[in-house]
Amino acid sequence: APPLDVARIRKDFPLLQQATVYGLPLVYLDNAATTQKPQVVLDTLEQYYTGYNSNVHRGVHQLSQQATEAYELARKTVAAYLNAEHTQEIIFTKGTTDSINLVASSYGRKFLQPGDAVLISAMEHHSNIVPWQMICEERGAELKVIPINERGELRMDAFSQLLDERVKIVAVTCVSNTLGTINPVKDIIAQAHARNIPVLLDAAQGVQHMAIDVQELQPDFLAFSGHKIYGPTGIGVLYGKQEWLEKMPPYQGGGDMIKTVTFARTTYNELPYKFEAGTPHVAGAIGLEAALNYVKLVGIDKIQQWEEQLQDYALQALQQVEGLRLIGQAAHRAASISFLVGDIHPYDLGELLDKQGIAVRTGHHCTEPLMDLFGIPGTVRASLSMYNTFEDIDKLVAAVHKAAAMLR
Ligand code: PMP
Repeated sequence: APPLDVARIRKDFPLLQQATVYGLPLVYLDNAATTQKPQVVLDTLEQYYTGYNSNVHRGVHQLSQQATEAYELARKTVAAYLNAEHTQEIIFTKGTTDSINLVASSYGRKFLQPGDAVLISAMEHHSNIVPWQMICEERGAELKVIPINERGELRMDAFSQLLDERVKIVAVTCVSNTLGTINPVKDIIAQAHARNIPVLLDAAQGVQHMAIDVQELQPDFLAFSGHKIYGPTGIGVLYGKQEWLEKMPPYQGGGDMIKTVTFARTTYNELPYKFEAGTPHVAGAIGLEAALNYVKLVGIDKIQQWEEQLQDYALQALQQVEGLRLIGQAAHRAASISFLVGDIHPYDLGELLDKQGIAVRTGHHCTEPLMDLFGIPGTVRASLSMYNTFEDIDKLVAAVHKAAAMLR
């Protein structure tokens, strides 16, 4: 029996019921970019805006207290979802990009000195490259890169060698959004910690596909986006170990992050508020909570099993297409499948897939350095989520056959 009842799950997603593309039912395979939202998330947002919309933390009035309670309950839910030891280790941000910028800027200002290094990997998303580049430039530090092999796996031998005393932080992705590679983050963390070097995990493509327990895994920082795990856009999470967050200076200044302000001097609020300047995305946080509760209800282990079945099926079927080349052939992989067919430009292929109702992404997927390594302009990427079906894959593969025949 399949690990989950996909027909039932699909009924929870109004867009999947309603959306058509050129009159065809939508086959949505762009989940690494963003996921669709279940009704319960939409209802939660509406209930907030129609029932108790109010600013948080500063109000004496009842609505404000209600909104504050809901916002702080959402934080507790996120903490429990990641099994964080302390609720104040959860900072609400705009998304993964914002979370990484927070750490790069705040940690970097405090702990990076000229001659130090930041270690990232060759398969990072631009949002786990550029913020580090910017702070390295500012602090006179160097950005170092863990290389990959031809299958798109991290070269752990090279990682061990790069991990010298100059490295002050390691920042890597759990899963490559382009190649689908699952990285050995446990090993990376163990090796870094043996040298007292903290590790940031980019879990933008992690949390929605596999269980992540921060007390078991022990990352020092972990970032993810609400919109890629069935929640709203504009909300994200930074998990940070309390001992690090307490040592780090605020990222942005403003309301909510202060204890007292005079023109001479400001004292900062305690965690997590020190890192949440200004009115937060209250609705987003509550919506994210609803999304995480939905994922919990379905069961992340079942989601993982289902997506693995879909992935194996898709990899098998796609490789039957004449001239199709998989970009990224890691032994451990999840959710994102990148490919090219012959010398057809990925954009042309993507356009013909779109005409057949199949939503995929084409291009460099915000991993330009990775595309340069493979010597390609981009890929066609199909990415999976819990609501995809074998039928979706069949339609994708049929459409690829057809498009390739037209373009060859
Ligand atoms: N890292 C990875 C691995 C991603 O896939 C993405 C989104 N494509 C990001 C970071 C950035 O996420 P966001 O745009 O939601 O900030």
